[in-house]
Amino acid sequence: MGVTAILGATVIDGTARPPTDNAVILVDGNRIRSISATNNAIVPAGAKVIDAHGKYIVPGLMDANAHLFGAPLPDLVLQYEGRYSDILEEASQIALKSGVTTIFDTWGPLDPLVTVRDRINRGEILGSRLFVGGNIIGFAGPLSPDFFATMNIFGADTVKRINRQWEHDVGSDLMWLTPDGVRSRVRQYIEKSSIDFVKYAASGHRDPFITFSAPAQRAIVEEAHRAGLTVQAHTTSPESLRMEIEAGADLLQHGDITGMAPMPETTLKTIVERSLPVAALLSTEKHQAWMRDHGTEAMRTLFNDNLDNNDRRLIAAGARLLLTTDGFVCGPPVVNHPRVAPHVKGAVDYPKRLGESHFLWLEAAVERGMTPMDALRSATSNIAEAYGQSADLGTLEAGKYADLLILDADPLHDVRNWRRIVAVMKDGILIDRSRLPIRRILTEEDPGAAKE
Ligand SMILES: [Zn+2]
Repeated sequence: MGVTAILGATVIDGTARPPTDNAVILVDGNRIRSISATNNAIVPAGAKVIDAHGKYIVPGLMDANAHLFGAPLPDLVLQYEGRYSDILEEASQIALKSGVTTIFDTWGPLDPLVTVRDRINRGEILGSRLFVGGNIIGFAGPLSPDFFATMNIFGADTVKRINRQWEHDVGSDLMWLTPDGVRSRVRQYIEKSSIDFVKYAASGHRDPFITFSAPAQRAIVEEAHRAGLTVQAHTTSPESLRMEIEAGADLLQHGDITGMAPMPETTLKTIVERSLPVAALLSTEKHQAWMRDHGTEAMRTLFNDNLDNNDRRLIAAGARLLLTTDGFVCGPPVVNHPRVAPHVKGAVDYPKRLGESHFLWLEAAVERGMTPMDALRSATSNIAEAYGQSADLGTLEAGKYADLLILDADPLHDVRNWRRIVAVMKDGILIDRSRLPIRRILTEEDPGAAKE
């Protein structure tokens, strides 16, 4: 692969620096060689040239929390057994098509996730760059009361076989162990799983109760750090959030959710003082209005005015937010499912639709008073830093991966311009977006396409 020169665009590089007009980006293989003003640039003979005059170039977008396996519903988990990798591949292609070049998958079937991540990294298949967490330590698999209680209708062997693909020996039986017992199971999991980061349960999934004791949470964090991995927790209540912070988590995953109570002022202060990254589930004002009128009571336990006010307070206080969508593939078998349909069908600006919801997140951030530049950094460099990946990702600088978007209007001028993607480059390769997703399992035709 030779050198590609992208000529003439305004480059917004994802650092705090002002944009560079009329720039030349040289891409060598899968990395950026240099970015300079046109006057100072020398384009090597034989370079492939992309004319981008009048366009805007930004780092590829990142999502700090999505679930590429978007169908953990009991019947679908069985129906698609053996094809989980295909579903993940499809999801990563839907994301890539819409400008998300990196995804942190924070809960899914580990082996298929690792397989797809590695195949994408080797260039065997197209897709967003994946980082995987595997199980949320402490949760049982999808066929369990933590997710979908199945009332014994499937048979014990089936339930065990399916759940094992998520749990990998760090499921809900960890609740019976001492902190040392938890520590050794987490250590084994990290050693044999090839995960990229650790996520554990500090709150339950179906309820807000505290899961692990404070010493057990510290043991999990220590084991992650011992292995050089970042760690985050699933929290949905003020106390689980406080305990996660006390335990030493690096990133607060949906740390803006505090359920039926607001985030305490002391917690907010700690987050800001320690500059702790908060992966925040922003949704637009239109969606909030829809949720107030049409959301189920269960949904409104978490997705309510406390969440919105927490986000507004975090933004006003200058906290470091990360774009996070919880996104999944909203194909017909999933959205027509009786358990999903009431939440998704008819929802205005539904915030978890993979391939679309990152645009809504950026719009919601600006609606809530975030500057367009901070919104851009929340979707790029902040995420790379929070996950310890900023040597390679998150900004457009010499030496980093050439993951970038070419837009035909300025996203700092109008947040809706994020949708105006004319090209996606990932790993130095211009992606043919019209082909994506190549793999079609949950989608029929083009539901992942951005509205343009
Ligand atoms: Zn979570």
